[in-house]
Amino acid sequence: MEEAGGHAVPRVQSTPFYTAYLKIAEGCSHRCAYCIIPKLRGPFRSRPIPSLIREVKKMAQRGVKEINLIAQDTSLYGKDLYGEPRLTELIEKMIPIEGVQWIRILYLHPHRVSESLLDLMEAEETVCPYLDIPFQHVNPDLLRAMGREPRGETPEELIQRIRGRKRDIVIRTTLMVGFPGETEEMFGQLCSFVGRADLDHVGVFAFSPEKGAPAARFPSKVDPAMAQKRLTRLMGIQARVSKRLNAGKVGQVLPALIEGPSPETDLLLIGRTAGMAPDVDSRVLINDGEGIAGRIMPVHITEAHTYDLVGRIPVH
Ligand code: SF4
Repeated sequence: MEEAGGHAVPRVQSTPFYTAYLKIAEGCSHRCAYCIIPKLRGPFRSRPIPSLIREVKKMAQRGVKEINLIAQDTSLYGKDLYGEPRLTELIEKMIPIEGVQWIRILYLHPHRVSESLLDLMEAEETVCPYLDIPFQHVNPDLLRAMGREPRGETPEELIQRIRGRKRDIVIRTTLMVGFPGETEEMFGQLCSFVGRADLDHVGVFAFSPEKGAPAARFPSKVDPAMAQKRLTRLMGIQARVSKRLNAGKVGQVLPALIEGPSPETDLLLIGRTAGMAPDVDSRVLINDGEGIAGRIMPVHITEAHTYDLVGRIPVH
């Protein structure tokens, strides 16, 4: 049972036994012009820390090793309840729970990646060195039109701050092409950013008007065929970056969570390193050695594909 707002509600775990998503807040109080989630789900409401800790303890007792924290904006966690964001405190309370081996934070807002969170990530092995920060775009005018007013650091400055840390932190982002008003020049800025930033994982979406979202009525629409072309071009740039970054991992031994046989063939096992989130990122294809599903085991990386890695589990 999950306690939401003081009520107990039935809860079914739909993910494999070793991994789970933990929703730390409901709703959203941002106003991105392309999105109707705030209208559908109401304002941002955090779940109290004690309720979340109780749920994580139950997950760990069931054998969950990897907890993936989700909300529309995890970096805002606690602001509504406690008057200030408390994401770092929440994670600090989860770390000592027996059985929890990886805590992963998804959906951080680019304006609120705090130094205290980076300190914690650097100090605690249990916190996956992984940041999922949806930048959406880099052009300030377009970000403003999207309702994501640029503030303080630019995306590149934030990336530099993260890369300045001693621990190697994997960065995932989501980008949008074809938003109304996106010119060739603005798109060119996005391409240069992706070419330079060495992001580990990038998801690209073409703008599509949501009924009820302000952007659906914006002028200067980009032709959908053009938006698709831009998407393909941007993914092509990222594919080259990803291939180069992956090649640098060959020869390393990385801890990977073994997920079981590949859905495509029984000859391969699938694993994920701490730098690979479930469902959205690339995987490690294991073609040699004995793995146990649900265990975190060392994997020797032997080959690199554009997105996936190939490896073997060393014999002890
Ligand atoms: S895109 Fe995300 S942050 Fe923006 S309004 Fe929608 S749910 Fe909120």
